[in-house]
Amino acid sequence: MKFDPASSVQDTLHLDPATMGVNHPISDSATFAFDTGDDMLACFHGEKQAFLYARHWNPTNLELCKSLAAMEGTEAAWVSGSGMGAITSTLLQLLKSGDHIITSVTTYGGTYAFLKNWVTKYGIEVSFVNISDLDAVKAAVKPNTKVIYTETMTNPMLQISNIPELSKIAKAAGAQLVVDNTFTPMIFSPIKLGADIVVYSMTKFINGQNDTTAGAICGSQDFINSLIDLNDGTAMLLGPVLDPMRASSIHKNLFTLHIRMKQHSKNAHYLAERFTENNIPVNYPGLETNKQHQLMKSQMNEEYGFGGMIAIDLKTVENANKFMHIMQERGVGYLAVSLGYFKTLFSNSGKSTSSEVPEDVQHEMGMSEGLVRYSVGLDNDIERTWNIIKECLTEIGFI
Ligand SMILES: *Cc1c(COP(=O)(O)O)cnc(C)c1O
Repeated sequence: MKFDPASSVQDTLHLDPATMGVNHPISDSATFAFDTGDDMLACFHGEKQAFLYARHWNPTNLELCKSLAAMEGTEAAWVSGSGMGAITSTLLQLLKSGDHIITSVTTYGGTYAFLKNWVTKYGIEVSFVNISDLDAVKAAVKPNTKVIYTETMTNPMLQISNIPELSKIAKAAGAQLVVDNTFTPMIFSPIKLGADIVVYSMTKFINGQNDTTAGAICGSQDFINSLIDLNDGTAMLLGPVLDPMRASSIHKNLFTLHIRMKQHSKNAHYLAERFTENNIPVNYPGLETNKQHQLMKSQMNEEYGFGGMIAIDLKTVENANKFMHIMQERGVGYLAVSLGYFKTLFSNSGKSTSSEVPEDVQHEMGMSEGLVRYSVGLDNDIERTWNIIKECLTEIGFI
């Protein structure tokens, strides 16, 4: 039977056994007591499973993690206070001084900066490649390559990674394939396509409310255990754990994610078609004319659509800024970074979320300075929204 992330998440629903509550009580404890000193020691030595201290595990985070692991089809998961907390913990767990990582050059700006400026201070070698060029990825492999890193749909160019092929290259190299699936939860199931570890910024679509930052790491039980090993686990020792209050609210939002993803996709697809009809250069992998279309189709769980992200090109920063200002005034959405919110958000990527990426690299990526990236909201009447966008385009002289 075909893997269905939404049904898998729903199958993790269960009543709280202690209270019969439909939602689980929030664990309000940072530390947990033991009956005897021997019990505590056994827990420290990994001979006994118990809650010990909330930076390691707490009951609320564990419930959320069971649902996230079900969504990805992994054995386990662990949640952090931000997406960067998840990404940095994962990479620092897999890499040590002298190791090598191959990464897509078109990653989230924070990830790019971490790999460009931070890990290199500690003797970790990094190769930035065009992740669509599989020969370039192969050519970058070295004897010390431990990780290949990419995003299923890259930010902000919406380039699609070929996960099955990257997985083959990683396996042949004895490396782990780590995939950031932040833009496309449920649309892609990277583990099923051959990835080893999936990371998320749950700040975006998964939580969908823009009320908190949060991150997730989904992988094998062994990997998650290694991350929170009391003696040398990166997540345990750097301490980016998610607060249980937030874990509880994110968990409830996870159960509506499938409906939200379908509506984000539907609205984004509609706008992409209208932009195309009006000769505005638009990047949306859902369009049959898009060069990423077939690759996306061959890997996706089709019922969730092609995602809520689109990018249009208005050539100059001045055009982009004027356009975004008018759109915000007329209520299309907010001129803000981030994505996956119920209201449309837009930003000019080059000067904002990808500002960590040097301009010459932005050029190499094909990023125009007038790029406006939309995270399309959950508008009930997207035609009404389009009519306002059209007015804004007319005002800046684009149609
Ligand atoms: C936002 C984002 C991150 C970072 O997540 P935070 O929750 O802001 O720390 C990582 N990857 C992608 C693709 C993102 O969009």
